[in-house]
Amino acid sequence: MDNVLEFLKKEPAKFISFLKENGIKKFYFVTDEKSKTLVASNELLKPIADFINADKRDYLKHEGMFFEVCEKYDTLYGAFVHKTNRGQAAGGLRYWKYFTFEDFLRDGLRLSAGMTRKNSLAGLWWGGGKGIILHNPGVDFYDKEIRKYLYQDYGRFVTTLQGCYITAEDVGSNTEDMANVHLTTRFVTCIPPEVGGSGNPSEPTSRGVISGMEAALNFTGSDFMDKTVVVQGMGNVGAPVIKYLFEKGVKKVIAGDINQNTIDKVVKSLPGKNLETRLTKIGDNSILLEECDVVAPCATGAILKPEIIENLKAKIICGAANNQLEDSDRDDVLIQKRGIIYVPDFLTNRMGIVNCANEQYGYVNNDPLFEQHLNKEWEYSVYQTTLRVLNASKETGVPPAKKAIELADELAEVNHPIFGHRGQLIINTLVEKKWHLS
Ligand code: NAD
Repeated sequence: MDNVLEFLKKEPAKFISFLKENGIKKFYFVTDEKSKTLVASNELLKPIADFINADKRDYLKHEGMFFEVCEKYDTLYGAFVHKTNRGQAAGGLRYWKYFTFEDFLRDGLRLSAGMTRKNSLAGLWWGGGKGIILHNPGVDFYDKEIRKYLYQDYGRFVTTLQGCYITAEDVGSNTEDMANVHLTTRFVTCIPPEVGGSGNPSEPTSRGVISGMEAALNFTGSDFMDKTVVVQGMGNVGAPVIKYLFEKGVKKVIAGDINQNTIDKVVKSLPGKNLETRLTKIGDNSILLEECDVVAPCATGAILKPEIIENLKAKIICGAANNQLEDSDRDDVLIQKRGIIYVPDFLTNRMGIVNCANEQYGYVNNDPLFEQHLNKEWEYSVYQTTLRVLNASKETGVPPAKKAIELADELAEVNHPIFGHRGQLIINTLVEKKWHLS
C-alpha cells in the first residue's frame, strides 16, 4: 500500500495487517504541547496524524491516542485521552464493531471528548477518555476464555499507559469484564462490588434524571404536581424513573418498551398507580408524541430528529438515553425554535460515572460526595447545573446543549487542585521513554 491514508477508508483488518507487515505493534498520536499539532510515534503513520490534525469536527486537540495490536486475536486496542487538566482521563471501555479504521478513530475521539464534558460539568476531578477493543468478526466474543483473555490483555495495555487513562465499563462490556481488566491493572473502575466496586449505577442515574426534570419544571415556574410524563424505555433506568415520578406526585405516566416482560415487571411493581403502557417496536418512536408535559427518553439515542421534534406535544425533554439528538447542531436548534426545553443528556445521566469514578476512595452511608450531585444546593449538582444552563440559554439565545458544552469546556480547563495537569506529564513521559518500542 503506497498511501497509508487509504487504510482509513478500509476495514480495520487491512490496517492491522499493514501494521504487522511493518513490524508495528504499538503506536501513538500525541498533540505536541508547544506547536499544538499532532505527532505520530512512527514516520510511516505521519499521514494519519496529519489527517487527524486537519479535522475540525472530532479532533479537539486530544492530548494523546494510544494503540496496540493484539496479535493473538488480530484486533486492535485503543485508549483515547482527550483532556487531563481536571485529572486522569476517565471513561468506559467499548467493545464495538467498526466498518473502517476511520470510524474507529472518530468514535474514540468523539466519545473521549464527550467524557471530558460530562465529567467537568459534573464537577468531578477527572479528565475525559475512552477505551476501545475492536470487534473482530472472526473471533467468538461470547467464548468465555477469549473474552477473559481480551479484557485481561487490555488491562495490561492500560498498565503500560502509566495512569493517564482510567478505564471503566461501557457498551459491550460488563462488570465481570472489568474484574478481568482489574487482574492486570489498577487503572480501572466499575469493578464488581465483591472486589470493592460500586455496583449497578442505574438507580442513581434515574435520580439524576428526576433532578434535571425538577429543575426544568421549576425553571418554567412549575413542578411535578399533576403532570403527565412519557417514559420511553422501562429498563434499568426507566423503571426507577417511573417509580420516582409517582413519588414526586405526577398525575400520570405513559411508558413504553419493546419487551412485554419488562413492561409487566414494572406494572407489577407499581400497583394502583396511573401508569399506562405501550408495547412498541424498535424504530417506533410514536410514544414521544403523546399528549404530555414532559418526555423522558430512557431507551436508545438519536431519537430526537426533525420529524419527531416537529410533532412533540411536551414542553420539556429530559431523559437518560445517551446522544438523544440525531444531529447535535441541527436538532438542538430545532427544539429551541419550537419553544421546548431540552435538558442535555450528558448533564442528567452523569450518575453512571459519578457512581464509579471515585470508588477507590471507599464508601460511607449517604455519601455526601455522591449525594451532593442530587441535592438542590451544591453548585455543580444536576439541579443547579440544569438551572444554570437553562438560564444562560435564555439570556443568550444559545440552545441548551451548546450552552452546556461551553460551560463544560470552561470547567475542563481548570487544573486538579492537588495533582495539577499530571496526565500531560504522564504522556510526556511515555513519549520520552519511547512507549511504542517498549
Ligand atoms: P436497559 O437496557 O436496562 O433499558 C433500556 C430499555 O429500553 C430496555 O428495557 C429495552 O427493551 C428498551 N428499549 C430499547 N429500544 C426501545 C425502543 N425503541 N422503544 C422503547 N423501548 C426500547 O438500559 P438502561 O441502563 O436503562 O439505560 C437506558 C439509556 O440510558 C441508555 O441509552 C444508556 O446508554 C443510558 N445511560 C444509562 C446509564 C445507567 O446508569 N444505566 C447511565 C448513563 C446513560
